[in-house]
Amino acid sequence: MRVIKSVKSIQQFIKKAKAAGKTVGFVPTMGALHDGHRSLLRRCRRENDIVVLSLFVNPGQFGPKEDFAKYPRREPADKKLAKKENVDIIFIPTAKEMYPAGYLTYVEVERMTQGLCGRFRPGHFRGVTTVVGKLLNIVMPDVLYLGQKDAQQAAVVTRMVRDLNFPVRCKICPTVREADGLAMSSRNQYLSAGQRKEAAVLYRSLKEARQSVAAGNRLATVIVGKIRSRIARESSGRIDYIGCVDADTFMPLKRIQGKAIVVLAVWFGRTRLIDNITVQA
Ligand code: AMP
Repeated sequence: MRVIKSVKSIQQFIKKAKAAGKTVGFVPTMGALHDGHRSLLRRCRRENDIVVLSLFVNPGQFGPKEDFAKYPRREPADKKLAKKENVDIIFIPTAKEMYPAGYLTYVEVERMTQGLCGRFRPGHFRGVTTVVGKLLNIVMPDVLYLGQKDAQQAAVVTRMVRDLNFPVRCKICPTVREADGLAMSSRNQYLSAGQRKEAAVLYRSLKEARQSVAAGNRLATVIVGKIRSRIARESSGRIDYIGCVDADTFMPLKRIQGKAIVVLAVWFGRTRLIDNITVQA
């Protein structure tokens, strides 16, 4: 496994690998790796000759009052996990390597970034699409692996790839969960023991929503209302949003038709968790 820090070196390495006919798969992350990241790496390993993992806590996607400074950084443990998963290259750039002095260029996907996390985290998706756009030009992968856990992000990045003709295929991998259903996240470690227990209500309420759709309920207000009251009843979580959106466009739905996603963001203390479930009417 090679650890590469500079844009120039990784581009040289990838160009050579591609000239030798190798396929390149790419898993971008912010590190503090867990089994969710691991599932992306495993699929990437199965499907490609070269596996590239990036670790970069991207300052551009955090708001001024968000957790950039305290976001977990676990480089030694991440390297160990990557080695175990047979990663070929870990790309660990510095912020200066990615955004040198005088940096002026940003990528913005419109409309579908306005609602949900976009509404509560202004500038977040612009930060995500800018860094992923840069990473795609740096790593030049054939396949990009994203997690369904961050459903809006996956939809926005897929849209950027399509709209800007990045020559890469996006593959979205299922959410990996803890035994009680809580979606794995690097942010779960911020939770106190009590909050951690309470947070399992998120997936319980999403599963109930899916059952409710299967039983014939179609109205978003009814489905959202049930989730809202369950979270209030069973936890101290403070809701940012709960919504039903179209699976591709992420536009809000009043009635569920076809494939939709029920999404939510809820605070437990000072930790904001997101989760979602796909439903089919
Ligand atoms: P992050 O390091 O949190 O930015 O995540 C890096 C990638 O891993 C993103 O594509 C995430 O959607 C994905 N990911 C994070 N948590 C999970 C999970 N629990 N299950 C599946 N994928 C995940």
